[in-house]
Amino acid sequence: MGTYAVTGAASGMGAATVQRLRAAGHRVITVDVKDADVVADLSTEAGRREASLRVLTTAEGRLDGAVLAAGIGPNRGPDVGRIAEVNYLGAVELLARWQPALAATEHAKVVVISSNSTTTTPLVPQRAVRALLAGDVARATRAVRLYGPARPAMIYAASKIALTRWVRRHAVQADWAGAGIRLNALAPGAILTPLLEQQLADPQQSKAVRRFPIPVGGFGDPGHLADWVCFMLSDSAEFLCGSLIFVDGGTDAHFRPDDWPKPVPLRQLVRYARRFRNS
Ligand code: NAD
Repeated sequence: MGTYAVTGAASGMGAATVQRLRAAGHRVITVDVKDADVVADLSTEAGRREASLRVLTTAEGRLDGAVLAAGIGPNRGPDVGRIAEVNYLGAVELLARWQPALAATEHAKVVVISSNSTTTTPLVPQRAVRALLAGDVARATRAVRLYGPARPAMIYAASKIALTRWVRRHAVQADWAGAGIRLNALAPGAILTPLLEQQLADPQQSKAVRRFPIPVGGFGDPGHLADWVCFMLSDSAEFLCGSLIFVDGGTDAHFRPDDWPKPVPLRQLVRYARRFRNS
């Protein structure tokens, strides 16, 4: 049986994942701002450091896997900087500190919860995404300041795009793929959790959420998403690396039926050709 760390474990998809892992006999170290083994606020640098170090101590430096599910939705309430801190830094800073513990077990699996907002939100400022990848939350929040009431939606999508790029950039590196760690992301659509319920409770946001096209109809079930997470933590995911799996009732396919494949970027081809010539 393995040892897993799960953030955002007190509610929604994180809680459903914890329940399944524990039912299967695994040891789970939960992290959340409330009701968790490690109570920490991932919107602060100190909270993220404390959470990552306490998990490492409890796990005695060895993790078979991790699930990064803590997140704040695109609601109008919280300040936009907090959304970016939790959704982006609250995942990548922890993962960077946990990498040696994940490498120590030689077969670790990591699932990061992204979102289909990455591909279905129009006009996300790329400057905000670049700022987050550089770790600069203040610059990211400045990049969305002209969006008015759409600022939370913009920073939410930017945080999930940056998070997914971080996953894809790192997953293939020697200290991740080469160290036996499988790092992947899941992109849920509208899933009926407290996060979505909060949006549905706001008349303005509710209208937008309910009008958003979901070809299969209705909202997703957090338990079903937790099943996907557990599958991505299992041995069956050994050949899964840097993938973003959409489980969104068809919204991404609806908006982007032909947006695939994109050509391989020229700089990657040049890099590959150089390596081939020098080998
Ligand atoms: P949820 O609100 O039920 O769970 C989120 C958890 O994150 C909560 O337990 C909350 O306490 C925790 N959290 C929030 N701020 C925190 C902080 N500062 N420090 C520590 N923990 C904090 O929501 P959910 O829908 O289960 O969300 C899980 C993940 O899925 C999130 O990353 C969310 O962005 C993503 N997601 C959700 C949906 C959806 O429709 N529900 C869709 C796409 C992506």
